[in-house]
Amino acid sequence: PKVQVVSINELVQEVVGLSEQRARFANIRIRTHLTPELPPIAVSPSEMQQVLLNLINNAIDAMERKGGAIDITTRLEDGFLVVDVADTGEGIPKANLQRIFDPFFTTKPVGKGTGLGLSICYGIVKKMGGDITVNSAVGLGTTFHIHLPVAGG
Ligand code: ADP
Ligand code: MG
Repeated sequence: PKVQVVSINELVQEVVGLSEQRARFANIRIRTHLTPELPPIAVSPSEMQQVLLNLINNAIDAMERKGGAIDITTRLEDGFLVVDVADTGEGIPKANLQRIFDPFFTTKPVGKGTGLGLSICYGIVKKMGGDITVNSAVGLGTTFHIHLPVAGG
């Protein structure tokens, strides 16, 4: 995977485009809140898209039965580029929160989930010098935060 200097907003828009059909089918609206003129990041574009796609697919899975919304925000915080992916889905019970990034941890039925998505996200984001964290409330929803260093420090 080749590292390139890219715009996070463009990557988000591309991945949202790829996800819109599945979301619409499940009565889910994807909204973006992209801060203009953010500094570029140095990442493998395909890996970063994989991270975003995994988070969006998990969000859709969490809302598949009753629909809802996904809000994706890009912003700058303390010199880091931050992407928030928030859903209005079922949420994650406290007991599971420390396990969701483990390989093969899944609450989905056999054949539906491999439990690898978030561990792959974690590995990719860490390799980029960033971090991924989660906030969740059962019955209300879940927000993942990705922190990435800006290109050139
Ligand atoms: P998989 O999607 O194959 O189960 P992941 O590693 O992507 O594997 O996610 C692990 C688990 O974390 C999921 O099975 C689910 O229990 C939980 N999870 C991840 N994202 C969300 C979300 N947005 N809302 C609720 N639960 C989630
Ligand atoms: Mg997944």
